[in-house]
Amino acid sequence: MPVAYLQEIFSSVQGEGPYVGCRQVFIRFAGCNWCCAYCDTPTEPQPATCVVEKSPGYRDFVNLANPMTPGQVAEIIRQYYNLSWHHSVSLTGGEPLLHTEYIKDLIKHLPSTRRGIFLETNGTLPDRLTEVITGIDIISMDVKLSSATGTPTPWDLHRHFIKVARQRELYVKIVVTAETKVEELQKAGELLQELAPQAVLVLQPVTPNCGVIAPPVSRVLYLQEQALKIIKNVRIIPQTHLMMGQL
Ligand code: SF4
Repeated sequence: MPVAYLQEIFSSVQGEGPYVGCRQVFIRFAGCNWCCAYCDTPTEPQPATCVVEKSPGYRDFVNLANPMTPGQVAEIIRQYYNLSWHHSVSLTGGEPLLHTEYIKDLIKHLPSTRRGIFLETNGTLPDRLTEVITGIDIISMDVKLSSATGTPTPWDLHRHFIKVARQRELYVKIVVTAETKVEELQKAGELLQELAPQAVLVLQPVTPNCGVIAPPVSRVLYLQEQALKIIKNVRIIPQTHLMMGQL
């Protein structure tokens, strides 16, 4: 029986990308294989407890001991949330694809939502995605530009990842900062146009953190214009859950 260390489980609205506003149950896995300068997520790989919000929006948290089995997580979800009126279950992180054996088992335990399993991933583990792709319905993949993360962009990993992810509904999210260069955005746009031209490309202005500065609106609009010359569906969507003070 696989086990995993989880950060939190809660029911809320999706705050990013084209599914913004959709109701989801979020399962946040602990630990990540990447290191982004603007990261606002705890990356402790083995937290002692998982925080569960029992009543959506009420902050009535309970701390449950880690690690947890898929059966335990499914039971928590059954106890506190009604999945039948949720859009989907979001597997998020950290990086959920560090836990593929766990995810395969977890999916078997979960009752139905309206749209199934939603994966939020940094797009750097294509072989891991292959292991679980048949159980995933929608993929939100990041392209990690070096100007934003402070780490070289893993172009080859992103290329391989898109080739696997395009079997499912896919959109790509790019966090843009005051340092984002047109050339790297163009390269990302060309990659998407080549491999998954129907996919939506989301430009997400960074929420300032750890000294990373957001670009001015004029710059974000300029970046969108440059990307639109390459790929047809490019949207600017900030992190909306923070605007409403939601998890
Ligand atoms: S990939 Fe996500 S969780 Fe990992 S370091 Fe970057 S922002 Fe944080």
